[in-house]
Amino acid sequence: MDMNGGRKRNMKGHVVVISYPATGHTNPMLQFSKNLASRGVIVTFVNFNLNHRKVIQARESLQRLKLDIRFECIPDGLPEDDSTLDSNINPAVFKHMQDNMDGSGLERLIHRLHASGDTPPVCCIIYNSFLPWVRDVANKLNIPQALFWTQSAAVFSIYQHFQNGEGLDCGRMPQNVIIPGLPELKLTDLPSAFMETSGSINYYLGQLEVVKDASWVIANTVYELEPETINSLRSTSLPFLPIGPSIPTSFLQDQNAEDTQVGANPWKAADCMGWLNKKPPLSVVYISFGSILVISDEQIQELAVGIQQSGQNFLWVIRAPPGHDHIAEVLPAGFMEETKERGLVVDWCAQLEVLSHPSVGVFMSHCGWNSTLDALSLGVPMLTLGVWTDQPTNSKFVTDVWKTGLRMRRRDDGIVGRDETERCIRMAMESEEGKQLRNNGLKWRELLKSSASEGGSSHSNLNAFAQEIISKAK
Ligand code: UDP
Repeated sequence: MDMNGGRKRNMKGHVVVISYPATGHTNPMLQFSKNLASRGVIVTFVNFNLNHRKVIQARESLQRLKLDIRFECIPDGLPEDDSTLDSNINPAVFKHMQDNMDGSGLERLIHRLHASGDTPPVCCIIYNSFLPWVRDVANKLNIPQALFWTQSAAVFSIYQHFQNGEGLDCGRMPQNVIIPGLPELKLTDLPSAFMETSGSINYYLGQLEVVKDASWVIANTVYELEPETINSLRSTSLPFLPIGPSIPTSFLQDQNAEDTQVGANPWKAADCMGWLNKKPPLSVVYISFGSILVISDEQIQELAVGIQQSGQNFLWVIRAPPGHDHIAEVLPAGFMEETKERGLVVDWCAQLEVLSHPSVGVFMSHCGWNSTLDALSLGVPMLTLGVWTDQPTNSKFVTDVWKTGLRMRRRDDGIVGRDETERCIRMAMESEEGKQLRNNGLKWRELLKSSASEGGSSHSNLNAFAQEIISKAK
């Protein structure tokens, strides 16, 4: 028996958390792991060769926080050191993870963990729906499993509503959709797969199959954001547990908290603080479309002209699209030079720090779910431009339900034009309506902060889940 007493260690719960290797999944799942570890649960966080090196950069900050999170890596069968295989942008990686991977690597890992005796037996495997084969491993090893849902409750509810097992024909969708617990939605408010004829919708509907074996659906959302939807989901006995926003706790507290570090940066984050410090309060438009979305050259050019026409300061996160070496090749001639006093263009930034900065007045976003939660958590209004997967649905909620954003209107060819870009920026930054959006945003910030504080909904759900895990280990 070791000095700490093997018995005491055995009393702790031990979970395996495994995330699809993309930033929008790893970030909230790593934060969730931190929240569990701070409640006394031991976490083994499993990566793939593809993203292991990036994710373990978080180790240092975890050691500072004295959290018991151990990183492990399982083979993904992809060639090593191939920089084109970035899981954030390469659809082939997604396909490989679905079609070619099975649970053997994970199964071997769990056997090894059990044989080593360094940690108590694994009492729950937590995974997200892009890794459906984890379900079979948990079933085979007879370990309870939890699905980590990385999107909103509304999106879960929409997929669940259409899941009828026979395959959905997107050509026969109604123009308006009524689903219990949700406002009436137009077809264009649904996740984009509902509009695609490729049949991809049946993949998204199929991912919910794993729920049948899950003891919990842990969701990165907040009860107060979607009460009717969550009540409706729970009325079907679904063990749906909202624990969001899954972001470092320092961004949800007024005092200095030590947990400041977001998961892993897929690209080196530029230091924008010095630049932001020189700008007046609420004077900067922050623009970012997340880690995956690639927008067309024409769309980039229209946005650039609109941003320039608006006359506002801006911080734009944008990388060269495929086929270009540098973003300057795509931006309109003279843009960088003419806007150098009031604009900063970077590959990647520490988004939560940027959104926390008093100079930032509005966030032009693709409405990825994490970015949406980032903005709501920090009370920053949004200009929404969502086109892909859950982004149109998130955009609908931001603009019409939470009323913290304006939707940027597309032309018939799908592009948001320069004048529309200018109009939206001016409205957000200069008008009374913009002020109202900001005030609404600040109300949501307060609600999200209290949900993450002692006694709040997400805080209590995290406590309850951690307690259940610990009690399973006894
Ligand atoms: N993010 C960041 N810096 C950036 C852009 C994004 O740190 O310059 C983070 C953001 O905080 C969020 C994630 O990257 O955690 C993006 O996730 P989201 O769901 O918004 O979009 P996705 O990248 O999955 O499309």
